[in-house]
Amino acid sequence: MYSVLKGTHDVILDEARKYSYVEAVLIKVAELYNYKEFRTPIIESSDLFTRSVGESSDIVRKEMYTFLDKGNRLITLRPEFTAGIVRSMVNNKLFANMDLPVKAYYVGPNFRYERPQQGRYRQFNQFGIESCGVDNFYRDIEVISLGYNALQMLGFKDVKLKINTLGDDETRENYKGALKAYFSDKINLMCDDCKERFEKNILRILDCKVPSDIEIVKEAPKINEFLSENAKNNFQNITKALKEMDIPFEIDTNLVRGLDYYTGVVFEYQYSSSKNKNYGALGGGGHYGKLIKEIGGPDLEGVGLAFGIERLVSIMNDDELFNDIAQDLDIYLMPIGKESFEEANKLTNFLRLNGFSVEVCFENKNMGQMFKKAERRLAKYALILGENEIKDKKVELKNLKTKEQIEVNYDDLIDTLDNLIDEDEHEHLD
Ligand code: AMP
Repeated sequence: MYSVLKGTHDVILDEARKYSYVEAVLIKVAELYNYKEFRTPIIESSDLFTRSVGESSDIVRKEMYTFLDKGNRLITLRPEFTAGIVRSMVNNKLFANMDLPVKAYYVGPNFRYERPQQGRYRQFNQFGIESCGVDNFYRDIEVISLGYNALQMLGFKDVKLKINTLGDDETRENYKGALKAYFSDKINLMCDDCKERFEKNILRILDCKVPSDIEIVKEAPKINEFLSENAKNNFQNITKALKEMDIPFEIDTNLVRGLDYYTGVVFEYQYSSSKNKNYGALGGGGHYGKLIKEIGGPDLEGVGLAFGIERLVSIMNDDELFNDIAQDLDIYLMPIGKESFEEANKLTNFLRLNGFSVEVCFENKNMGQMFKKAERRLAKYALILGENEIKDKKVELKNLKTKEQIEVNYDDLIDTLDNLIDEDEHEHLD
């Protein structure tokens, strides 16, 4: 017996349907905002992530699935999408050939060697967007509001949107200086990760989850005291626009996010499930001022966000936000006796080619058993086919809800089913 690897999970049957449903809603929203789909490789050259996600991030320091391939190339399973998406925009010369911003959405798996726990996997799925080649704060707003609106469409109420700004270069330089001064006589008391962050990217200390470190961080200087005039205006514009759009938010000056490439606004969507389980943030993102250039593209800025599909589905399960997405079946075809299998096989093929979902019973069961199977499969109609019917080129069609049964000639079958199933759907919508 084999079991799934630690931190991975099978997504099958109803659960898979929920994943597809959530992804379909997110894609629909992305298309409303005119984002286009990008599918980039799962394997990329390791440097792409080391350089962009950053040496001080947890991802690069300890979570990448990296290996040498048979050609001695250092390769990494993508731990996040942004770097690969931007690389593809650069490689495909989209900045020269398309109107700006270039707007991408994506869905697919990522890999991070993390300690598995509730809401945290080693292989997990993300949906996200990137808007690259942006030159004013309205594009940040577009991304933040897309995320918020998508959550509304999935049925999330009371989403907590936290936002912060990491300012511009001037702001960050000044702020980092102040943090260095504040932490220099405390860093010895802090965790090993923080000691490393102190050297490599001191801002990341603010994100530490160790309780005794959180106490020290509480008293640290706040970034809003160091914002340059430009950074302050930019952030004020963003918060003003969010208010005008009735999108509630909270400013959290300790929010820095886990990836090193962010500059300017950063944000996170949080939500507590009614079961009070903590799965971590549903998603988050931010503005990146230098990443595109870093990856070899022009000096343009971008902004993006990502949601974790696992977390969305877990919470939607807990809060019962999936209503009625069970997959029903148009027709359960019941051949009476093995003699009818050949005709049943042909008829099933014919119905499927005409766009009806059909399951057929080739297990040689009696009528009672076949009706049970039809019910379990949530079939709308049972189609009964016996020797007599085959001889007369007709079938018995039974509505499994109303129990009404009619006789239909082969020649009228498609028209009759079209009308019946159409009517049912209308009734359903009313
Ligand atoms: P990040 O790419 O780190 O900014 O994360 C964006 C979102 O991806 C998070 O808010 C989560 O919803 C999801 N996510 C990140 N890491 C994991 C993980 N290990 N397992 C499940 N979901 C994750």
